[in-house]
Amino acid sequence: MDGIVLLIEDEEEIAELLRLVFEKEGFRLLHADSGEKGLDILTQRAPRAVLLDLGLPGMDGTEVCRRIRAKSNVPIIMLTARDDEVDTVVGLEIGADDYVTKPFSPREVVARVKAVLRRAEQVPAPPAAITVADFEIDSGRRQVRTPSGDIVEPTAREFDLLWHLAHNRGIVLSRSQLLEAVWGYDYFGESRTVDVHVRQLRKKLEGIPIETVWGVGYKLGGRAR
Ligand code: CA
Repeated sequence: MDGIVLLIEDEEEIAELLRLVFEKEGFRLLHADSGEKGLDILTQRAPRAVLLDLGLPGMDGTEVCRRIRAKSNVPIIMLTARDDEVDTVVGLEIGADDYVTKPFSPREVVARVKAVLRRAEQVPAPPAAITVADFEIDSGRRQVRTPSGDIVEPTAREFDLLWHLAHNRGIVLSRSQLLEAVWGYDYFGESRTVDVHVRQLRKKLEGIPIETVWGVGYKLGGRAR
């Protein structure tokens, strides 16, 4: 793989570390040490992916992420300093595609970038809909019609998770199976990513029959139509 990756990060050491690994993999890493500079580079150079530090001086990472999303669908991977910032990134729904918690291995970051690029390049599946317990899950529009007729648009990742569960309705899927299928890489440890997304889906789609199977994972139950 090749192409330009934009890194928005104020810590020079991290930038140097990532630059080495990305260039070894054939990417060109452009570094901006503030959100403002990053946004400038984004418009001039059209990178294939953005690595975005959450804790930036001046305009913080969440605001930078929102501004990028307002004008571009470029894959964004957030770099978060602390574990508890992960919930912030996911919970705020600022439109990031993935996140990595510091300290990270540069190779892991490269793997994440490759994974989002692979996903971005996949040809979209033909539109289809699955109805479960009167929730109509529409993969063409990537939205859900609730039993009361409301239209809900989950985030991209939430929708992918729901779609995968719906596709395997009645089957218990482990957290690692879900991570593999929806996030697309081998994932160690942070299975709560799935939990956080399930929680969001339950909140947005009240009554959606996503069942927790203790010690295993999740399944989508309910009557099919
Ligand atoms: Ca920082």
